[in-house]
Amino acid sequence: MKMKSAKINAFRTWGLLLTMVGMGLMIAGTAGIVFWGSAGKIAAAIGLVIGLISMTASLAIYFWAGMLSTSAVQLECPECGKLTKMLGKTDRCMFCHTLLTLDPAQATLTSEQLESQKLQHP
Ligand SMILES: [Zn+2]
Repeated sequence: MKMKSAKINAFRTWGLLLTMVGMGLMIAGTAGIVFWGSAGKIAAAIGLVIGLISMTASLAIYFWAGMLSTSAVQLECPECGKLTKMLGKTDRCMFCHTLLTLDPAQATLTSEQLESQKLQHP
């Protein structure tokens, strides 16, 4: 897995990770009662509470990502030609992880420069 990914993909990864952790803790907590009896009840309670918080957080992240993706700009990636979504002024392509920007000042090459380069070097 690449560390540098599109923001929407990063949100989904974190949401999935939190869901897995939450479920794991809740299962481990329940297993604690089975294996250790009454002594495991405290561990089970802590596991269930942390698990529940983690699950709620993942739900919030998923919801937030959903809200963000509706306002995301859809564009065709100049590098791989696939349709991608970007958040904010700079983001990475969801497929090839190329840095994309909407801010001309942030871009290393403007479209005018690209055009003139093409004219100079056909
Ligand atoms: Zn791309």
